[in-house]
Amino acid sequence: MRLTIVGGGLAGCEAAWQAAERGIGVDLYEMRPEQMTGAHRTGNLAELVCSNSLGSNLPNRASGLLKEELRRLGSLLIACGDASSLPAGGALAVDRDAFSACVQVKIENHPNIRLIHEEITDIPEVPSVLASGPLTSPKLLKALQDFTGEKQLFFYDAIAPIVHFDSINMEVAYRANRYDQGDSQDGDYINCPLNVEEFQRFREALLSSKRIPLKDFEEEIETGVDAGSGQYFQGCQPVEVIAASGEKSLAFGPMRPAGLPNPKTGRWPYAVVQLRQDNLAADLYNMVGFQTNLLFSEQERVFRLIPGLENASFERFGQMHRNAYITSPCLLYENLAFKKNPGSFAAGQLSGIEGYAGNIASGLVAGINVTRFIRGLPPLKLPITTMTGALIHYITHAEAKDFQPMKAMFGLLPKPEDDLHRSKKDRYSFYSQRALTDLDQYLLEVKGF
Ligand SMILES: Cc1cc2nc3c(=O)[nH]c(=O)nc-3n(C[C@H](O)[C@H](O)[C@H](O)COP(=O)(O)OP(=O)(O)OC[C@H]3O[C@@H](n4cnc5c(N)ncnc54)[C@H](O)[C@@H]3O)c2cc1C
Repeated sequence: MRLTIVGGGLAGCEAAWQAAERGIGVDLYEMRPEQMTGAHRTGNLAELVCSNSLGSNLPNRASGLLKEELRRLGSLLIACGDASSLPAGGALAVDRDAFSACVQVKIENHPNIRLIHEEITDIPEVPSVLASGPLTSPKLLKALQDFTGEKQLFFYDAIAPIVHFDSINMEVAYRANRYDQGDSQDGDYINCPLNVEEFQRFREALLSSKRIPLKDFEEEIETGVDAGSGQYFQGCQPVEVIAASGEKSLAFGPMRPAGLPNPKTGRWPYAVVQLRQDNLAADLYNMVGFQTNLLFSEQERVFRLIPGLENASFERFGQMHRNAYITSPCLLYENLAFKKNPGSFAAGQLSGIEGYAGNIASGLVAGINVTRFIRGLPPLKLPITTMTGALIHYITHAEAKDFQPMKAMFGLLPKPEDDLHRSKKDRYSFYSQRALTDLDQYLLEVKGF
């Protein structure tokens, strides 16, 4: 019996690897490059569509804890992330091409995996894992709609522009990590400082600039759902939408200057635009938190108002895309199988997880659990005190009404059982230590892992 996995993205590749490593024959279907999505640019497996950061690597941060758990659980994609990492303070940022190439080589050379570049248009026979992601093809989205009975399966999301390093004015911009975190002496991030007047001019230009009508992106959708509802996901709001929400919302959000003193003045500027290295060659930089849906010509005009970016040339402009997910609390068991068809599993963003590392985690759990389903073993049920266990528990137990994709955060974990008063920092360290101890213990006890 072969396992079908739909989607060679983060979740699908991790699921394929976990099942294949356990001796299951896997047919991994990826529709690119024959059929592209609106955000992917290559036919490569595990392509990162926007930021090149897999989030914090610090053990006392939620995302850092998640990655440490994934390392202990034997994640292929986190291993590839570590192998292709770039300097990024306390974060795990990767060279996106090296990361993809690492995953591609491992998957293509695995004797139990057959990689098939083909679009899947119907819900596959069991056993299967659906990991077709936020940009699931319209035909499959329609089939999923019929299968789940759900009418609205997507909302809107945006990606940030990438700038050529040699077009950044380093006379104005400066290198620094927030509060000097990270190992590098010089600072991994490039910071473009703005004073109050510059900030206000920039904000006004942003607010008055022309945007791309959402319907233009959605013309290919044949699902009959409302493409113009303009529902954004909070974690990835376009910079112009944040700007419109309040006079200072940018300066307290993606343009927060805290911990980034300008070496010329020794003081924090009024606002800062941060750029993070995007590739190993270090000739491309990503505008951190600058997801946008402005017309490309407007991006050029408005972003060049940022001091240091007067002559910026853009490798890629920001864009807005749809983002599909199902109401997992109604539809999935905690092992990530569909209640309607328990040999069919869901993983990745489609299952309602947000963030690269979280999606890798769900792929890992789905890959192991579909294997256990095939073998007649009880599912892997990671302790709810672990970040992976808590995330999976959340998406399968949350309030279904207004359910939105969830990312790793300490708020998902059970409170400490004692009533000791701890500072935030100590609380986070406590959560991390408890999670890793419980995970190690669970892995010693679980049979057939
Ligand atoms: C525009 C945009 C920007 C984002 N930016 C970020 C970010 O900066 N940071 C972050 O953490 N997360 C971001 N996300 C979320 C991000 O997509 C996920 O974190 C991650 O890529 C999801 O992993 P996945 O495996 O579920 O989907 P993907 O990695 O997208 O993989 C799904 C794969 O399935 C394939 N596929 C789709 N339909 C079919 C079909 N019918 N047949 C065969 N193959 C199919 C696709 O081509 C794709 O390769 C963004 C999402 C979008 C849409």
